Parts: sequence; C-alpha cells; structure tokens
Amino acid sequence: MKAYIGLDIGGTKILGALFDEYGKIIKRVKKKTKAAKGTETVLLQIFKVIDGLLEDEEIHLLGIGAGCPGFVKDYSTVVFSPNIPFVDYDLAAIIKAKYNVPFVLGNDVNVAMFGEWNSSGFSDVNDVISIFVGTGVGGGIIIDGKIYVGQGGAGEIGHMIVNPNGIICGCGSHGCLEAYASKTGIQKSIVAGIRKGRKTVLKEYLEADGDVIKSSSLRRAYEANDEFAVEVIDGVAFYLGIGISNLVNIFHPEMVILGGGVMESLGEELLPIVIKESKKYVMPGMMNNVKFQLSKLSDDAGIVGGYYLAKAIECKS
Ligand SMILES: [Zn+2]
Repeated sequence: MKAYIGLDIGGTKILGALFDEYGKIIKRVKKKTKAAKGTETVLLQIFKVIDGLLEDEEIHLLGIGAGCPGFVKDYSTVVFSPNIPFVDYDLAAIIKAKYNVPFVLGNDVNVAMFGEWNSSGFSDVNDVISIFVGTGVGGGIIIDGKIYVGQGGAGEIGHMIVNPNGIICGCGSHGCLEAYASKTGIQKSIVAGIRKGRKTVLKEYLEADGDVIKSSSLRRAYEANDEFAVEVIDGVAFYLGIGISNLVNIFHPEMVILGGGVMESLGEELLPIVIKESKKYVMPGMMNNVKFQLSKLSDDAGIVGGYYLAKAIECKS
C-alpha cells in the first residue's frame, strides 16, 4: 500500500498518522516528546512514532511531512524552537538517512494551516491568510498555493502590533495581537477586570474553573449577556479585526481561515464581530470578495498538514 506519514512534533507530545495515498488516516501513534531530556531523547521519540506507524503494515512509504514549533529553515533544519531542544538541527538529513524517504519539515502553525487550506473545500483558492488563536496567536501565509516563509520565520501574525502603546507581550514588545487575543491575553484581561472590581459572573466561573477561565465559561457568560464578558469578547474581536484588516490591505487574500482553541470554542460568537471590525479598517472594496472560514481539523490540523506537505514534495521529486 502506498502511504504517507504526517507528524506534529509538539513541545509535550508527538502526534503521528499514517495516511493512504488519498489522505485517509489508517493509523495513529502518539508519544511524549520528553523535551526536557534533550535532543537525542526527542529524536528517539520521533523514531518511535514513525516505527509504530510502520510496524505490521505492508507499506510503500512515499514521504513524511512534519511540523514543529519555532524557526525552520529550508524545510529541513530547526534553527531554534521555543519548546524543543533542537538548535541548528538538520532533522530532515537524519530522517532521510534512516528511512530513505523524502522528509519535509515546516513551522507547526504553517503546516497546520496548510492542512486547513487543503481541507477547506476551496481548492481553487490559492492566496490564503490563516490565524490560529490559542494559548498564543500564530498564523501563516499562502501565496499562489505555497507557504510563504520569507527567510524561514514569516507568518508571525500574533506579533503584529495592533496598539503600540499597549500591554506588554511575551515576546518583549508592546501591543502585539497575541497580548490581546490569545487565551493567555483573555485570561489576563479577565483577571485585571475582576481586580478592578468589575461585577461579572466570570468571577464565580473563574473560581470554579480553577483560576484559569474555560472558553466554555466565557461563552456561557457572553450568552447570558454579562456586560464584562461581552466587553472581553468584543475586545478580542476588535484587535483581531485590526490585525485582519492590516493583512487584507497588504496581501488581499481570497480567504482568511481562523482556527485554534479560542476560535473553536467561541468562533460562532466571534466570527461575525471579527468580520464587522475588520471591514472598518480596510481600504474600500478590499473586503468584497474575501471568504472567512473557521478551521475544521482541530488537533488533526498538524498531521493532516504534514500529509499534504509530504505529498506536495513527493509530487515534485
Ligand atoms: Zn509579541
């Protein structure tokens, strides 16, 4: 059987899936990354995932596509990763030597969005911007059907400045989109509001959730028209709208995909406000034919993106 492997190498776990040539998942393997144990251990964990996918199967492996957090160069080398101990590490050379198949590596968010785009049902759409709103805010740019990485690190949409005099971001800068729209940012603004004495059901929910608000609690408060919860959600939509309008003015994409944990749980509430806000700041006419899509793949976006990436590379070679 002809097959591909998609890998999602995360800071805590490595997800792998074996795909048939048409993209159907045949088998899944998940292992801990064990990042704290160092480079060799992480590499062995990656091998275990690949070996687990290949055992007991009559497989003609055509390629492996993978994503990992951080700055990836030439689709092969991890220059730096915030949560995996690879530094200037040519993972592709190692995998190719061991398994003798094409291997292509990208930044995890870029690879995930490549999966979302290929699964969106809009195969004729080739210019896409993707924003993943989760613990942080990540993104990706597809131009002419290809992931645009610049020198390797392009697509850091979360660190676009949406308020230069704004709050400090984890990256050290001020007023980044991530500081406002990420789950971490939302949590901070809720805690700050409660400290200032805002009357809100979120105070009670926050205690019940164990001091980190669940997206479902925020939605519940929003649906109950809690004034502060509505303000928090509107704030997230406002800053996402500013970010999207900048991106639309610069790239004029055919489609904007919004994904990540926050969009998965609050997407239906957020999307109409995000679209309304972003329309306020674009140049006239620019938004007329831009499609907005919520992501569909959830936690499978990385492995599915890996499959499509492997397939794209295999087609070329
Ligand atoms: Zn930042």
